[in-house]
Amino acid sequence: MLTVITNAIILTLDDRQQTFEAGFILIEDDRICAVEEGRPEAETLERANQVINAAHMLAMPGMVNAHTHLFQTFIRGLGDDLPLEEWLERYIWPVAASMTVDEAMLAAKLGFIENIRSGATAVTDNQYIHNTPEMDDVFCQAAEELGVRFLMARGWTDRNYHPAFLETLDQIMARLSALSSRWNQHPTGRIRVQPGPLSQTVVTAESVRRASMLAKEWGVGLHMHVSETRRETESCLRETGLRPVEWLDNLGCLNAQTQLVHAVWLSDYEIDLIAASGAKVIHCPVSNMYLASGAARIPEMRQRGIPVALATDGPGSNNNQDMLETLKTTALLHKVTSMDARVFLPEDVLWMACRCGAEAFGQPERIGSLEVGKKADIVLVDLDTPFAVPVHRPVSALVYNLNGCSVDTVIVDGKILMKDKKILALDEQALLEECRVAAIHLLERTNRNL
Ligand SMILES: [Zn+2]
Repeated sequence: MLTVITNAIILTLDDRQQTFEAGFILIEDDRICAVEEGRPEAETLERANQVINAAHMLAMPGMVNAHTHLFQTFIRGLGDDLPLEEWLERYIWPVAASMTVDEAMLAAKLGFIENIRSGATAVTDNQYIHNTPEMDDVFCQAAEELGVRFLMARGWTDRNYHPAFLETLDQIMARLSALSSRWNQHPTGRIRVQPGPLSQTVVTAESVRRASMLAKEWGVGLHMHVSETRRETESCLRETGLRPVEWLDNLGCLNAQTQLVHAVWLSDYEIDLIAASGAKVIHCPVSNMYLASGAARIPEMRQRGIPVALATDGPGSNNNQDMLETLKTTALLHKVTSMDARVFLPEDVLWMACRCGAEAFGQPERIGSLEVGKKADIVLVDLDTPFAVPVHRPVSALVYNLNGCSVDTVIVDGKILMKDKKILALDEQALLEECRVAAIHLLERTNRNL
């Protein structure tokens, strides 16, 4: 199967950050087999099974949304304008505890479509609601149906949490192993499962230590919220005498496999530890601003060589999953906190979303750039819009002018998931209607359960 994309402005995000003003991309099955300036040979075009004319479009690698909670699509907008702890207790917990498997499936599909529409081809979901044992699998099944690249950071809590979500250590380990044996052998490698303990205040040290060993065995990462709020950081210090990153290091769980989500309240010493360990940081600027959690020291981390990926966080605290909006917000947040307009350029935030995202996703050799041999995970963004014309500098237009509404075509593993802004795997309008109705029923049931 040969697909050709022609006439595109191409941002390769390769090591040399090459861009082509009018180039073409050849896709053979699931892989990129050429990325070049100019037009392909006539013989190649004749041989192609499909040709996509990308005139006035920008071609870029699919972004990695490195941390979300897909089930929260049904909760967004309910708990606006609250700090994290109150937002959790008053809104997220009661609704999530009432959610059925069918509702979770709808919420997951809706969430994946939002990601596709904003140019994210790979999604990491920190899935921590287990009202029934099948709950985890529906997220993987939804990813399979929609065609996105998916990493489920299977979450848990085994202390200090809402009773509906608590699990025992034995349950956690057994369920993680069962999920891994079902999904980590997926023939395409497109869907994987890794451990995702929720945060230090609500999990036991033993569960994190054992999960970290499993992650090593399975060749996947360990994904965890760390130092999201000052309150959480102070609580860890009071309880253990250590700050959260020190605590992880002390457990032997801070290494190149570790994905630290948020990392807002870090000491200088914790930044040293992260830099020395090779751990990845996942930055969720919109969520940190929305919940008034604080501003992470991302420019310093980048200067220290720490890979920082970007993410929306769950749509309950964002309230969308628009990765293009996240690019702009990242640049703006750090300009204002550093009072330095050049602290992050558009190229920097795009690099974080694609290349650092691929590292955090555990597949830097497969995704994150448009290069020969890599997976064909490609996004075409429409520049022919009054929001961007005239486009003097495509990467600037992408980051500062546009949002998810401008994403036109999305390809994963060489397969087209969205074309001309239309999702191909399912009837999107019908899904939206189903979600509207299901969310009303869910809220009614939640109110009865309160
Ligand atoms: Zn989160």
